[in-house]
Amino acid sequence: MNPFSQLGIRHDIVNAITDLGFENPTPIQEQSIPVLLTGSNDFVGLAQTGTGKTAAFGLPLLELLDFEENHPQALILCPTRELCLQITNDLKNYSKNMTNVNVVAVYGGANISDQLRQIKRGVQIVVATPGRMLDIINRKAINFSEVQFVVLDEADEMLNMGFQEDIDSILSTTPDDKKTWLFSATMPTEVRRIAKKYMTDPFELTMGEKNTGNVNIEHEYYTVRARDKYAAFKRIDFNPEIFGIVFCRTKIETQEIAESLIKDGYNADALHGDLSQQQRDKVMKRYRERSLQLLIATDVAARGIDVNDVTHVINYSLPDEIENYTHRSGRTARAGKTGVSIAIINAKELGKIRQIERVIGKKFVKAEIPNGFDVCEKQLFAIVHKVHNVTVNEQQIEQYLPRIMDEFKDLTKEDIIKRFASIEFNSFLDYYKNAPDLNAPIDDRSLRSDSGDRGAPRAAGNSDYTRLFINLGSVDEFNRGDLLGYICNTAKISGRTVGKIDVKGVYSFFEVPKGDVEKVFTEFKDAEFKGRPVRIEVSGEGTSDNRSGGGERSGNRRREGGYSGGGERKEGGFRREGGGSRERTGGSASGGGFRDFSGKRREDRNSGSSTGGERRRKF
Ligand code: AMP
Repeated sequence: MNPFSQLGIRHDIVNAITDLGFENPTPIQEQSIPVLLTGSNDFVGLAQTGTGKTAAFGLPLLELLDFEENHPQALILCPTRELCLQITNDLKNYSKNMTNVNVVAVYGGANISDQLRQIKRGVQIVVATPGRMLDIINRKAINFSEVQFVVLDEADEMLNMGFQEDIDSILSTTPDDKKTWLFSATMPTEVRRIAKKYMTDPFELTMGEKNTGNVNIEHEYYTVRARDKYAAFKRIDFNPEIFGIVFCRTKIETQEIAESLIKDGYNADALHGDLSQQQRDKVMKRYRERSLQLLIATDVAARGIDVNDVTHVINYSLPDEIENYTHRSGRTARAGKTGVSIAIINAKELGKIRQIERVIGKKFVKAEIPNGFDVCEKQLFAIVHKVHNVTVNEQQIEQYLPRIMDEFKDLTKEDIIKRFASIEFNSFLDYYKNAPDLNAPIDDRSLRSDSGDRGAPRAAGNSDYTRLFINLGSVDEFNRGDLLGYICNTAKISGRTVGKIDVKGVYSFFEVPKGDVEKVFTEFKDAEFKGRPVRIEVSGEGTSDNRSGGGERSGNRRREGGYSGGGERKEGGFRREGGGSRERTGGSASGGGFRDFSGKRREDRNSGSSTGGERRRKF
């Protein structure tokens, strides 16, 4: 039996939601649907956005209302126009196999006559933002005297936006014996107060711990100097597949960052209250359709945005109100997916991170701003991946093949591969060749409190430890835990003695006590990984013990391992003249756009080079 049927949902609705891909109820649906289906409780659900709460209240409503009658029986209030349209749309989808279900969306910034006309035609479910709803009530264009259910969705947001009085006025036109269902991501005292005011003995459901953020969200912070913030931002999210929302504190900052990013060739746009509704709709449409990769937004403008598959939320500036952090980060990891919420802070803001940790009940991981080398490596593999996965149009290409083959006839397979990869890669190398370290130095004590930083107290430079290089990394599908296990098994040393592990793309670093170095070398002497010899070297970075020939050598060797071409490639890459010319790599939804930039221009603006001054003023 279908799990939704087991919860008491009728056949035609189950069929409709199956078409939407709902196979199993989400936790909130599982727990709230049976309660709400009784129709006899007030209800408070503490749940994040993206947990499936629309169906949690929407499906019971469709079961409980009498659709033979054509008057308002349910009113759903929500904070934003976007959410209002989303809920309306969802309800229409759930009820597509039912007859005579009329749902009307009532929201500001759109023609009121259309909405009035729809109401006049007959409606059972009204989904509304408070301001426009009150306007319609004041025109005496709707009668709520037979409303049985009121849903207050994202109640905390509605209160944040100052809708308290409007909600009071609207609810005063509904019958006393209606049932009220309230959903909120957080439970500040104001929400508690309205729960108390409008409800009798509500059934309370808390998904996860109170005020706890979504468990599928990883929280990271990066510490930078204020002047490096923009440059750091561009490296942190330097992820070819990113589909993100960047939060700024003010409209001006939002606009400025968006403009800078656009100028720098990013696929970004701004969303804030100074734009007209039409402009905002346009931006949101592009974002939803994924023709935009980065949405730069204020808290208010981004309320109610429920776009699935957002991979990153970036707090370019931390919110003034800690509660807002939960709303921001809740824009990612929706519908059971995972996501990352990043905060870019200066050392003084570390206290605020600790405060947020207490509110969300989860620790942040301190992350390092990637250096130029890391970024290049990531890009190289993105290119390699793209070449590997490209769809070949056999028919179209066939006619050109003889000429292409002829052109390449003097090159080996390896040469051709190198050249393809280098087409884009050279300009990254060129662009990042002198990229500075943007990590701001911070107090060691703050590092120590980071649970996520393995071995942080034994940071590089601790003279009891030696930092070793190994030619295995994330491309070999190692994470820190896996690598620790592999090192311990191979070197036959205890995991507890291993210090900081830094997994990079094609290589990694790990620290071992000086006394264990010899043993590690001995045990790894003939080690192979998937048929490849494993190479260990003393790293030149951060240790004085350069047993195997010093930092310079291991540094170069590392590059050889990474780019498989040694000295020749180094010349071709780093010294290439005019390598920055870069065509748009195609605005594909999955992220070509984000990499579409003229590498040269980007960092120059912010790294203190000749054009940097102008841009710097803004930060
Ligand atoms: P909501 O929290 O209601 O905005 O839902 C977040 C997303 O999860 C929406 O895209 C829903 O379509 C989707 N969703 C809701 N319930 C389920 C379910 N049971 N199975 C799969 N997806 C769901």
